[in-house]
Amino acid sequence: MAGMNAFSHIPLSASPARKHDANMQYIGIDLGGTATKAVVLSADGAEHAWTSVPTPPLTSEDEVRTFVRDLRVGLGMEQAGGVAGVGLAVAGAVDGAGVLRMAPNIALDLDLLRDALTRELRCPTFALNDASAAAFGEQQLLPKGDAPRSLVLVTLGTGVGAGIVVDGRVVPGARGAAGEVGHITVEADGHLCGCGSRGCLEQYASARGLVRLARERAAADGTPLFPEPMHDSDAYSVFLAAENGNVPAQEAVVELARRLGQALATIACVIDPDVFLIGGGLAGSAEAFLPATRDVFRKHACPACRDTPIEAARQGNRAGALGAALFARSQVDLA
Ligand SMILES: [Zn+2]
Repeated sequence: MAGMNAFSHIPLSASPARKHDANMQYIGIDLGGTATKAVVLSADGAEHAWTSVPTPPLTSEDEVRTFVRDLRVGLGMEQAGGVAGVGLAVAGAVDGAGVLRMAPNIALDLDLLRDALTRELRCPTFALNDASAAAFGEQQLLPKGDAPRSLVLVTLGTGVGAGIVVDGRVVPGARGAAGEVGHITVEADGHLCGCGSRGCLEQYASARGLVRLARERAAADGTPLFPEPMHDSDAYSVFLAAENGNVPAQEAVVELARRLGQALATIACVIDPDVFLIGGGLAGSAEAFLPATRDVFRKHACPACRDTPIEAARQGNRAGALGAALFARSQVDLA
């Protein structure tokens, strides 16, 4: 089975000339639908502080001011100065100019928040999509020598998304939608998706999709799921049932693997990354579906891409904040 060392021949990702002051710090903020994680990194990438706060609505000056203050207190950054850049990862479509095109799950005025961070911390703020940030974090933090130039991080959780890094750079797309792989069609007349289309990957490879598949199989087979999912997105119970030999749960996991493998093969035809990483909440159970995903991928991918490694992501839910801070560092370098 292809492992991480399968791409160890890929040359070290070219770091841009380091122009930053060694004493300067970078803040990475991962603004999620319910919680926000933030980290302070020094210029050499060492982690200095982490904090996590609930994500409030961020549409008024007051809300934004309180939020920025809470973050600074949590990070021990009450004093202004010493910060060279802030990276802001957002659960929404952010284009290459940093404009928020769509954020269905957060009440956010991005301009207001960006202006407040820039003003309070006296440094530029760079916004990007959260999956893009996570992909950049994973790419930058792979061991030197293994670091791929190009990768696609596919996140399987409440929804399905992706972050794309090509030649060491984040690819946001013209409309911020370059990572919307959850809406790749994998079944022409499949299940109706929230986007209005049918048969999107998200309907099969998200937590909710997996639970629905398992319940459908259980009804068709006349075999109950055990354990029974506790709610509509309790993927963990489905993986547990599959591990315990429950047939409908196993069939649902195989179906997820099949759809994911198909979609990755489609992505490979366009991006041809050095490696695919699988992250998000479902990645904790990656070993349950990655072997089958690799088999399906191999069947559908164009011949040149058949051996592309497909691995579990390494940084878990830290990747977004770390990637946002590293993105800020890369943007300050370019300036
Ligand atoms: Zn869709």
